[in-house]
Amino acid sequence: MIVVRDPRPAIDPSALMGRVIEACRDIIVEQETYLCDLDCAIGDGDHGTNMRRGLETLAAEQHRLAGMPLSEAMSAAGTTLVMSIGGAAGPLYGTLLLEIGRGLAADPSVRFADVFQQAVAAVARRGKSAPGEKTLLDVLYPFSDALINHMRLPILAEKIQGFADMTIDMKAMRGRASFLGARSVGHMDPGAASCALLCAAVCRQLAEADVA
Ligand code: ADP
Ligand code: MG
Repeated sequence: MIVVRDPRPAIDPSALMGRVIEACRDIIVEQETYLCDLDCAIGDGDHGTNMRRGLETLAAEQHRLAGMPLSEAMSAAGTTLVMSIGGAAGPLYGTLLLEIGRGLAADPSVRFADVFQQAVAAVARRGKSAPGEKTLLDVLYPFSDALINHMRLPILAEKIQGFADMTIDMKAMRGRASFLGARSVGHMDPGAASCALLCAAVCRQLAEADVA
């Protein structure tokens, strides 16, 4: 028997961008205290506040961004995050989006997973860091690998928290947490936690919109 899917109304890309930004803002606002608590344990306690400030600033700009081609919107969003998140995480999240924007502008027909992989490598260069050092890279690298390997977005959304959980047993080698040395073991990295929340929110929105 041939099953014909109900035709869905096509989703306007700029409306989708707004939904993704709002979903990211909402999850970070909801989890601000949790992220600050994680940062209190191995850093200075400001990660949730930094991220909330960044995502609220981004959400306030969503209409300006929605009017731009995707590559320009990603670059503009990256600049906003560098300036509004601040701390160590701002330049890293900002680099991720700036590099995605650059990659899309260079080759609009490129596969998104390939652009994302290059952007993650740029974040690692910016932080002079590598996976296994208890940072947000411990979420970005496996997330990127899963995209390269065509993992379905709803499945990926369910798996992402597991990547952040893996940082609990790691010793911090970068950022403030590295000052604690072995005492950082036993705590989840706050940047990995925020990154997992954001990546899961993006996956859920794109899956709901039936993208990819
Ligand atoms: P700050 O450490 O300046 O207070 P945040 O608390 O906002 O900044 O962000 C801390 C997070 O940034 C860490 O949990 C870690 O994931 C990430 N981070 C810090 N330094 C680096 C680095 N060199 N490379 C990659 N990620 C880093
Ligand atoms: Mg901090």
